[in-house]
Amino acid sequence: MQTRIPIIAANWKMYKTIDESISFVAQLQGEVGPVEDREVVIAPSFTALQAVRQLMNMPGFKLAAQNCHWEDKGAFTGEISCPMLQDAGCDYVIVGHSERRHVFGETDDETGKKVRAVFQKGLVPILCVGETLEEREAGNTFDVVSRQIAAACLGLSREESSRLVLAYEPVWAIGTGKTATPEQAQEVHLFIRDNCASLFDKDVAKGLRLLYGGSVKPDNVDALMAQEDIDGMLVGGASLEVPSFKRIIQFHTREKSTQ
Ligand code: PEP
Repeated sequence: MQTRIPIIAANWKMYKTIDESISFVAQLQGEVGPVEDREVVIAPSFTALQAVRQLMNMPGFKLAAQNCHWEDKGAFTGEISCPMLQDAGCDYVIVGHSERRHVFGETDDETGKKVRAVFQKGLVPILCVGETLEEREAGNTFDVVSRQIAAACLGLSREESSRLVLAYEPVWAIGTGKTATPEQAQEVHLFIRDNCASLFDKDVAKGLRLLYGGSVKPDNVDALMAQEDIDGMLVGGASLEVPSFKRIIQFHTREKSTQ
């Protein structure tokens, strides 16, 4: 029986200096210890990546970047390429976060180029998708999410698609304190898994890890993680303090079958 190993990922956005990042990771690893039945992913600022990598010495702890450029190198002032992220020791790259899409105007097409670039360098994208409040209220959630996934996954091989991590992050729930109910999140996660079954194939879809993000907190993580198609959390605000992130990492264990 194949199981989907849960991922609890911290997206620190534009918070924490190098020293603050080091202290956090040292304390977290000290308090949580090695983890075998889940992955803990930390996405600090670009400047702290290398320092955090050097400190990460516990099984189960992984490093992510928050963004990348799709070209390997060139005259792109201020951008960071996938070879640079690989060099800094990243395992994952968050791609298409709603703040990239809605604050910085990143398009579906650019998100797709980033996903392909991340795979080409042997890293794994955490692809974020999700609808705005307006889109949800207009009944367009499934259309938006399927359009974002189709554009981002264009041209992926079967092997690449089986390693993809997807994060459903309704824009109206990010940083707002409004979490999707477990049922609302499960409904979209199931839709995403079915959508991926048509886009890739049924076996790939069954094994895909689908994270939920949007005001995840210690008091809602267990109910969200109890849903059949939710395989992890992408956490912003509540990942900035050790006690709350630790409690989210320590959600109640549940094994999910992919049969
Ligand atoms: C995020 O940044 O991806 C996120 C989900 O943020 P928050 O947990 O603060 O809503």
